[in-house]
Formats: sequence, C-alpha cells, structure tokens
Amino acid sequence: MSPEDSIMTSEQAVHTRAPYWVDVDPAEWYDWRWQMSNRLNSVDELASVIDLTDSERKALESQGLFRVDITPYFASLIDPNDPHCPVRKQVIPTATELVPFQAMMEDSLAEDKHSPVAGLVHRYPDRVLMLVTTQCASYCRYCTRSRIVGDPTQTFSKRDFDMQIDYIENTPQIRDVLLSGGDPMVLAPKLLDMILSRLRAIPHVEIVRIGSRVPVFLPMRVTDEFCEMISKYHPMWLNIHVNHPKEITPELAIACDRLTRAGIPLGNQSVLLAGVNDSVHIQRKLVQDLVKIRVRPYYLYQCDLVHGSGQFRTPLSKGIEIMEGLRGHTSGYAIPTYVVDAPGGGGKIPLMPNYLLSQSPGKSVLRNFEGFITTYQEPLDYDPQEVKHLEDQIERRPEKGQEGILELLEGEKMTIEPKGFDETRSRGGKEHRLRSGGLSRKWLPLGVGSIEAEDGTVPEQLPDPQEND
Ligand SMILES: *Cc1c(COP(=O)(O)O)cnc(C)c1O
Ligand code: SF4
Repeated sequence: MSPEDSIMTSEQAVHTRAPYWVDVDPAEWYDWRWQMSNRLNSVDELASVIDLTDSERKALESQGLFRVDITPYFASLIDPNDPHCPVRKQVIPTATELVPFQAMMEDSLAEDKHSPVAGLVHRYPDRVLMLVTTQCASYCRYCTRSRIVGDPTQTFSKRDFDMQIDYIENTPQIRDVLLSGGDPMVLAPKLLDMILSRLRAIPHVEIVRIGSRVPVFLPMRVTDEFCEMISKYHPMWLNIHVNHPKEITPELAIACDRLTRAGIPLGNQSVLLAGVNDSVHIQRKLVQDLVKIRVRPYYLYQCDLVHGSGQFRTPLSKGIEIMEGLRGHTSGYAIPTYVVDAPGGGGKIPLMPNYLLSQSPGKSVLRNFEGFITTYQEPLDYDPQEVKHLEDQIERRPEKGQEGILELLEGEKMTIEPKGFDETRSRGGKEHRLRSGGLSRKWLPLGVGSIEAEDGTVPEQLPDPQEND
C-alpha cells in the first residue's frame, strides 16, 4: 500500500482500535484488505476482544444464524464490557434474534417478487434498485435482505449483471439506478468500475447512486484511488448508513471528506432500532453530528418485518415522536424523512406528525413545533391554469398504472378501487334493466379522464368558465 493510498496522513493519525490490535502495523491496520481478511466471526475470536454475555454466546453457537463478520476497525468501537453498547447490538447477535414474531417474513418488501430479472427491483416508475453483491464488510443483525445477504452462493454472476443491464437499457423510463446489495463497495474495484461504465453508457440513466455501509465499517476502503474511479461517472450520489453518534469517528469523517471533495453528495440512511437509537436526544445528536461531516440525513427507516429484526422493532409512534423532536428544533438540513417500507412491496411511505389542524375555504389552521397555532389565509382568486403553458413545455415520461392519487387530483380518474370491488358490489346479481354493461354512460363522470363511453362518444367537456364571462 502506498502512503497516499492510506486513509491517514501522519498529522491525522488517529487510532480507533481495541487493545487486541495495538501491535498491528498501521500500514496493515489502514489497509482495507487486511481489515477484510481479519474480520471476527467465531465465538473465540469475539471473546478475545469483548466480554460476551451468555445470550450472545448462545446465539453465536446456534445453527442457521444470519452471518456474523465484524471488521477489526468497527469491533474497536464496541465497549467490551457493556452489553448495551449501541455499536455492539448492531453486529453481535443475541438469543432474542432467533425468536420469531407475528407477521415476520423472509422478504417482507416482496423485492424478489417485484424483480423483472434476478437482483433488479423495479418498484417505482423512474428508478431501480440493482443488487450487485450479497457480501458486506460487516453484517447488521436487522438486515432487511438477510434472505440473500451474507450467503456467497446467492451472489450475482456476470450473467445476472448482463440481464440487469439489458433490462435497464430496454426500459427508457429508468433515469436513476441505485446500486446496493449487500454492499457495492466490497466488490472487486475492477468489477464495480465495469458496472458503472456500462450504466454510464446508457443515455437515459441520468444519475447513479450507491448505498453503502463501507465508509462506516471500513473507512479505509475510501482511498483516493476509489474516489477517482467513482468520479469518472458523475453525477454520482452516495448514501451511507450510520445509526448512532458513536459510529462517527475521525476515520469516518476523513472518508466522507474525501468523497465530498470528489464531488459526491452524501446522504445517510439509518434504521430506527430499539435500544440503539430510539430516542429523540440520540437522534438529534446523530443528525447534528452527521451534518458536521457534510452528510445530509436522508431516511430514517422503520424496522422491516424480517427475520432477526424482532428485538429491534419499535412502535411507529416512536418514529413520530422523534420527528416531532427534530423539525423546528434543529436545522432543516439535519432532518431525515421517516419512512415505513410497506410490507408486501408497497414502497416507502413517509410519516410525520400532523401540522395541519383544520381548514375552511380560504383558511388553513396550522401549528408549529412549539405548539403556536396560526392561520394561513389562502388566495381566493388563485388560478391553477395560469402555469399550464409552461407545464406543457416539460417533457414527461409517464408509466401507466403508477399515477396514484395524483391521477385523481389531475382529473384523470374519479376513483381507485380495491381488487374485486365491482364484483362484490354486484352481489352476484345478473344484468338487469338498470344495470347493463360496466361501461354504461351513467357512471362516467363528466369532464373527468378520457374514457370513451360504450357508444364510442367521449363525455362532453365541461364548459370553459372563461367563455361564460
Ligand atoms: C428505496 C428504494 C428506491 C429508492 O427510493 P428513493 O425514495 O428514490 O430514495 C428505489 N427502489 C427500491 C426498490 C427501493 O426500495
Ligand atoms: S450493510 Fe446493509 S446489506 Fe449489509 S448487512 Fe448491513 S443492512 Fe444488510
């Protein structure tokens, strides 16, 4: 390893390391390959660094446990004598991890079901999640993808990449590709470079982003060489994954500084974890410490309903309380969006306290973070059509079937019905003189959408109010 390649210069030398590794040569300690090949995973190795509890030993010795691997750097952040250490809880299993809970699933976000090809989840209209590996630098006990993560036999092949990239090439509405896994930053550098260059060659892919916990588990991986490689493919974005202020070390700060200097905007995704960060005060310190190292809190995730996450789950009300304690109380830049990734594959649903207290035509009553109640007087002569000629100049890439509530607001449709709605409401009855055919004109709302009636006529347009002047 060349000195420039090391994460530390001599002036910056900081040593986040447990006594177990004091004799390791700094050139090795700051070499990410050394960190990867010296990860802890057995009971004996772990016991030599921390004082294991009976529950931890029991879990580590059990069959079918989600993979354990901890980089020496990250293990050094653990308080060896405190079973409640927030860093420890994220990476060392306890016996409660093995306890099943109601509604637990293997793939609670139905990712594999919503993948047109293996490892490519296309859930939203204009962006895809591309899984490029099942390997990580260390393994989080609550991992949402534990069904494949950590298992080398599940990892993705060259043929999988080809199919993922083919799909993206042939799907012009995809403008954003999110690389995840596993952790894309543990891929062989050449392989990641190859994937990025192939994505960059697709004209409709506007941005590429990476979700990675490597800067947190293995900050030494963020070498100048790595930053140079990534910056060939701008615009690149990167989200890291920090859950507790203890993880924000000088090493992480340096890694983030390198990435930002390479022009990569950084965000943070954290998971709301019972006994780790389910506290307004811990979260406030976390987000404030993140903006100090120029990382913008992006999402705070509710724990998913996956195997192993039972002990970490909180009620949604805890998340709402945390958001109540952030908005207004600290910089807007430091506030993430709290989301529940909907079980069954519904995607991310944002939640926050209610700030809208009441409404009448022309008035909205709002409250602020302090409980101050105010009235926003609304314009009575607002013309939503005024912007129309500008709006028409904007190119759209619509995708049928995902217009959602917006479609109702824009007057394309009047209702959205649950599956089987019309069948249930017909109560098994037959066609009769008042009910004939599903498309009868009597159920077509005037001026909404462009559905043709049975006789092929389009419902009359509403008269233009201006023509009546
Ligand atoms: C989270 C996620 C994305 C990205 O969502 P953003 O809200 O744009 O960050 C894309 N695809 C899938 C399947 C996801 O889970
Ligand atoms: S780094 Fe991400 S993918 Fe890897 S174990 Fe943790 S949560 Fe799962």
